[in-house]
Amino acid sequence: MKTSENFTNTTNNLHSSSEPFTLYLDDEPYILTKSAIKEQLDPGIQRSKEAFWPSHIKLLSQSGQTLILQLKDKKTVQQITVLMEPDKLQFSCNCNTMVKTVCIHVCRTLSRLLPSNSTDYFEQYSPQGIGSIAVKHPAYFDKHTSSTFITYSPKKREEDIYRFSQTELSYLTADHFKLPASTPKPIRDKEALFIILTSYRRERLPAIIPCAGLLTKDREGIKQFLPFLSGADKKDGLMTGDQHQLTSLGLAMWKLVEKLPGSFRDITAEHEEELLQLFTLWEEALPILSRQQRLYSYRLGWVRDLKRPPHKQDMYSCRISMERPVLSFVLKDCGACYHFYPELHVRGKCLSGFLHNEPFIVSLNAVYYLLSSLRDAALVELVEKQIVFKEQFAQFEQEILAPIKAHYKVNLITQKPKRK
Ligand SMILES: [Zn+2]
Repeated sequence: MKTSENFTNTTNNLHSSSEPFTLYLDDEPYILTKSAIKEQLDPGIQRSKEAFWPSHIKLLSQSGQTLILQLKDKKTVQQITVLMEPDKLQFSCNCNTMVKTVCIHVCRTLSRLLPSNSTDYFEQYSPQGIGSIAVKHPAYFDKHTSSTFITYSPKKREEDIYRFSQTELSYLTADHFKLPASTPKPIRDKEALFIILTSYRRERLPAIIPCAGLLTKDREGIKQFLPFLSGADKKDGLMTGDQHQLTSLGLAMWKLVEKLPGSFRDITAEHEEELLQLFTLWEEALPILSRQQRLYSYRLGWVRDLKRPPHKQDMYSCRISMERPVLSFVLKDCGACYHFYPELHVRGKCLSGFLHNEPFIVSLNAVYYLLSSLRDAALVELVEKQIVFKEQFAQFEQEILAPIKAHYKVNLITQKPKRK
């Protein structure tokens, strides 16, 4: 704290109380302490017995950094002016008496405004203080008026008011920024993706094949597909660990797919071992596949087409479910004939109108399902919707229905006759 030049220089010289007297402040901007008052005001005025005790102190005006306070006691009304700066306050009074430091009005006002430990009366009127802010934004603050004080507090509301509300924010320290953070991933313009590769005219069984695509600006979509297998290039680092595993499973699938016929029509007992291997690979791949953000289906014409990128217009975005459908059949009595067809349920819900474009897999609304077993896969492919005339039912029952009934549930539905 600076020593009071006013006091030392004016010990023997009096000046008018209407001339500003400077009180220097401690380190905190705008905070006037009891000790600063005690050290800088002349002892005479501090010990004065003069009968002036302001019962009312009113803030008459605040303009910029100047406050005008009105003081009233029983007999007198005075106005004191406070010029505020971060490191000093200047007081003057309109009583215009000759003083060493300040007049009795300023001295007693300070005693009233800074009772016991309170030091921040003037701080609230600093440019960043709650008083100055509250005057500009009255909707956000409550004003509390007593005879000697005006104070402000933030209104109760959902949001906290920075600096003025008791908030969690006040606990934020540099240590919180030292807590472990996520490591930012490098922003890439391309991403690995996987394709369920199918074929025209059931020439090949389905397999998984990796690919990659250039991302759109918002990184949501693919603007261009790169050649097949491009995502698997280890030096690009596009793939996560389980995507590498999915790639290995897919390449193993492809080796088997090249050897096997593409339909259960042509699959015979000699294919059984490789067929089982392929289906097992699909089952192993399913959990990883179901977690892929970017999965597409693509119908490949010739094998040689694998050497160029897939055509964008033939890439269909899809996802694959972890659920395995339960196969049953429906035999519907329609009067002159029966309708017979397979039905699939997932968690008790019928996949009504499912599409079956390739062996092993059915789809509904771009969600793919891997059938539950090789036998289910064979039956879903081979037992398509049938009309069975009643004349032929005995033969159908013996050849087809009985063996199916031995393994699967068959629901008999009788159509109600139409009302005339
Ligand atoms: Zn005065």
